Amino acid sequence: MAKDGSIRHIHLNIFGLILAVFMAFFLSLSGSLQLIHIVFGAVLLTVVVVLRKLFHVAYTKYVESKELTKDIEAVVNIYAAVYRINIKTNHARLLRSAKKFDPLMEGGMTDYRGPLPELVKMFASEQSCDTLLNFLDKGSYEERLKESHSLSHEFIDKYGRWIRVQLIEVDRDESGRLIHVIWTFESIDEDRKQRESLKLMAETDSMTGIRNRNSGEARIREEMANETRGMFILVDADHFKSINDDYGHDVGDKVIIAIAGCMRRTFRDSDVVFRLGGDEFAAFAPTVEKEEIGRRIVNRLYDNINMINIPEMKGRRISISVGATFYLSDPGDSFDALYQRADKGMYESKKQEGNALNFYMFN
Ligand code: GH3
Ligand code: MG
Repeated sequence: MAKDGSIRHIHLNIFGLILAVFMAFFLSLSGSLQLIHIVFGAVLLTVVVVLRKLFHVAYTKYVESKELTKDIEAVVNIYAAVYRINIKTNHARLLRSAKKFDPLMEGGMTDYRGPLPELVKMFASEQSCDTLLNFLDKGSYEERLKESHSLSHEFIDKYGRWIRVQLIEVDRDESGRLIHVIWTFESIDEDRKQRESLKLMAETDSMTGIRNRNSGEARIREEMANETRGMFILVDADHFKSINDDYGHDVGDKVIIAIAGCMRRTFRDSDVVFRLGGDEFAAFAPTVEKEEIGRRIVNRLYDNINMINIPEMKGRRISISVGATFYLSDPGDSFDALYQRADKGMYESKKQEGNALNFYMFN
C-alpha cells in the first residue's frame, strides 16, 4: 500500500512538472519569458521535487528504524541477561543485563573469558548445576540446534529463583561447526510458582488437604513403574452413615478431616497418602514388605484414630476397617490388581467388628 502511494506521489510530481514546463514554453512563445529562464526554472523545480522526495524517504526510514529499535528493545527487556558465546575461545560476552538480575552480574562477568562451566557455577544453584552444564555443553546441542535453531531449559539460580535459559544459534562455519551462540536468561519465577500452585490444587483433595484419588493413584503407578516394593492399604470408616445421621453432615465432614490427619501423621512424608472419596482412604508405604511391620504401622493408625475427639460426638469413638496387600515388584502385577487384593482384605475386615486388618496376598 505504501509503495502504491509513493508511486502515485511521484506521478503527480512528474505531471505537475510537465505542466509547468509547457506553461512556461507557451509563455516564452508569447514573448513574456526567455528560454534560459524556462530551463533554469525547470531545473530548479526538478531539484526541489527530487530533494523533497529524498527527504520524505529518509524521514520515513528514520521513523521506521526508531520504531523498530523500540520494539526490539521491548522484546529484549524480558531477558535478565544476554550472553554471546564464542564457541572456539570459550569467551562469554555480556551483551545486555537488567540490573535487578544481580546473580548474573556478580564476579565481573560482563566480559568473561574462561571455562564456561565456571561461569555457570557462579549463578546456578547446586542442584541445578549438573543438568544446566549438560544443557549448555556444546556436544549436547551442536547437532540438535540444526533442527530447532533455539533450545530452552529451566533451572533454579543461587537465590532459589526459577530461570529459563535459551540457547540461540548465531552462525556456523562452512563445515557446519558452530561459531557463536547466544544465551538468554529470563526470570520465570512467578510463572513457575503459579504453575506449581495450580498443579498442587489439581492434586489435592479440597476438604482434607491430602492427595486426591487421581494424584494418589498416579504416584503409586510411578512407584510401581520404578519397581519400588511396598505395602498398599485401603481404609474405610465404620458405620460412617450413622455419624452423618446422628450428628449431621458437618460433623461427618469433621470426622473425614480428622481421619485424613491421622493418616498423615501415621505415614512418612515420602509415603503416598490419599482420599479415595467419601470415608475411604488409601496409602502406599514403600519399603514395607513384611506383614509384621505392616501391622505395626496400622496399629499406629488405630491409636491415632482412637484419639480423635470431636466434641459434638460426646465421646463416641471412631473405628476403621483396613484391607492390605504388598507390591513385591512382580512383573505381572498392576495397580488394579493391587487395589483388588486390598479390597478383598477390606471385605474380610468389614465382617469383623471395629479396627480390623486383613492382608490379602494373592489375586
Ligand atoms: P461401613 O461400615 O460398611 O463402611 O458403613 P458406612 O456407613 O461407613 O458406609 P459407607 O462407607 O458405604 O458410606 C460412606 C458414606 O459417607 C456415604 C455418604 O453418605 C457419606 N459421605 C460421602 N462423602 C461425604 C462427605 O464428604 N462428607 C460427609 N459428611 N459424608 C460423606
Ligand atoms: Mg464406611
